[in-house]
Amino acid sequence: MVIKNKIKIYVIDTSAILSGIPINFNDAEMVTTSCISMELKPGGKDYRNFQYLIEKGLSIISPSKKSIEIVISKSNKTGDKDRLSKADIDVLALAVDMKLDDKKNAIILTDDYSIQNVADALDIKIENFGQPKITKRFKWGCRCLGCRKKFHENIKICPICGAATKEIISSGEDIKKRK
Ligand SMILES: [Zn+2]
Repeated sequence: MVIKNKIKIYVIDTSAILSGIPINFNDAEMVTTSCISMELKPGGKDYRNFQYLIEKGLSIISPSKKSIEIVISKSNKTGDKDRLSKADIDVLALAVDMKLDDKKNAIILTDDYSIQNVADALDIKIENFGQPKITKRFKWGCRCLGCRKKFHENIKICPICGAATKEIISSGEDIKKRK
């Protein structure tokens, strides 16, 4: 697969805007979803940064319903579903849409670990700033505080002994080794 001639598309999430980094994309296009603007307080510094990015060519696109479903089903499998906001899901779904276009090389710009985790599971590239990139793909689960049994799903109350559970990372697959 030749990606050299593809147009680089940065799919920007809320964390990218909140970081306030001066985003300079002369070599790439920027897209985001309308949900992002709802996570920003109108009139604030972050909202101004968002307006600035729009002036610089940030496009607002709605993801397809089909891609939203793909993201929801994948995040259910990785255990990230409850960690993703509507805006997070839309950002991931938009990247899924962009990835379907052969001429585009979609990259999600985010510092959010759950977005990174689901993006990796969907085989979507990510770039981040600030935080180190995740090196393991997590699978969230929980452990019973009573009988210590581990569950792969996010269960609040243990079905065996009735005690409360605690969220844990049930497995971590090394991303670099896997590829
Ligand atoms: Zn138990």
